[in-house]
Amino acid sequence: MKILVLNSGSSSIKFQLFNANTNESLVGGIIEQIGERDSHAKIKFKDKEGKNCELEKNTAIANHKFGLEIMNALLIESKIIKDLCELDGIGHRVVHGGEKFSEPTIINEKVIEQIEKLIPLAPLHNPANLDGIKSSIEHCPNVPQVAVFDTAFHSSIPKHAYMYALPYDTYKKDGVRRYGFHGTSHHFIAKEAAKYLGIDANKLNAITLHLGNGASMSAVKNGKSIDTSMGLTPLEGLIMGTRCGDIDPAIIFYLSRVEGLNIDELDNMLNKQSGLKGICGNNDMREIGEMAKKGEQRAKLALEMFNYRIKKYIGSYSAVLGRVDCLIFTGGIGENDTEVRKESCSNLENLGISLDINKNNQRAKEILEVNTKDSKVKVLVIPTNEELEIALQVKSLIS
Ligand code: AMP
Repeated sequence: MKILVLNSGSSSIKFQLFNANTNESLVGGIIEQIGERDSHAKIKFKDKEGKNCELEKNTAIANHKFGLEIMNALLIESKIIKDLCELDGIGHRVVHGGEKFSEPTIINEKVIEQIEKLIPLAPLHNPANLDGIKSSIEHCPNVPQVAVFDTAFHSSIPKHAYMYALPYDTYKKDGVRRYGFHGTSHHFIAKEAAKYLGIDANKLNAITLHLGNGASMSAVKNGKSIDTSMGLTPLEGLIMGTRCGDIDPAIIFYLSRVEGLNIDELDNMLNKQSGLKGICGNNDMREIGEMAKKGEQRAKLALEMFNYRIKKYIGSYSAVLGRVDCLIFTGGIGENDTEVRKESCSNLENLGISLDINKNNQRAKEILEVNTKDSKVKVLVIPTNEELEIALQVKSLIS
């Protein structure tokens, strides 16, 4: 069974083709700078002899539809498929499913309309996701197309945790509530952890940490998300590359008054000029680590703030969960940054969390267990694989 997974952004499409019987990735690639003059497309795969191969095409790609045609041509050239239309299913990552979608969903006209209605909640992401979906349906109308929502895993969060203490009408009329994101990743690593620990996935209690340029944490009880750090939008929660995470909302009114900033300027500041970048001028964790080693005080401060915020969430989710089987780190930072893991887990023995410094000094290509032998809570590092999780969800829906 061959399943293609598409992650369509406003100017790019990332894709991966899986053999869903073996979970093997057959080919991965990206189409970049769609709509610009020097767009390009690239695929990477192994040929029949197992040799690593790459195919590239540099040409003006005006829109997502033409991007998919170029992708199809490259896939045919690679001899991995004869045409996209022979696939068993195509899975689309969709960022916002609102309250409507809590499961992977076969896409039809009505589903497209409903995703369109959710655009106000994800004005940057859902339109781009829809471009990919519509182009893909046009290209292969007979292949089942499935939407997998980033918010879906968090649909189990109870009302007392997803409501904001605002006038109730903001929820009823405008849909203002916590939705959460990175759900596919939190779900995937929770299931992988359960397999690794030999616990039934429906009984696992975990704190999941997806730490990348965007970062979020979840409290997972009996395999289900019961709380998460991102909210109505991905701005809330942890300190991120360029997003501020939790702040006093009154800062917005204050800055508007004293600096004369309007809503769009504040939106840009909080989403794009804040977080690690706001504090030390850089949002790349590798470079910030280097800057801190050289003694740059702002870089040190940014790291301390980043780790402190994570620690606060570990504490609150421990309280919410009661029993915690494991903490799971993933994402570019969670999988690779040994200092962040060490600092955010330091002095948490009272919560049953004890890190083995030597074991922690490894990077994850597969699952790592980095806790001490007597740590009550296991600390795991699990490489995320959102694309595979989407392919598996498509497989289980269409078969
Ligand atoms: P992601 O959004 O999951 O791709 O993660 C991006 C973040 O991971 C960036 O801040 C990178 O600097 C960080 N990152 C990637 N590799 C490493 C590494 N080896 N050590 C520390 N941070 C890393």
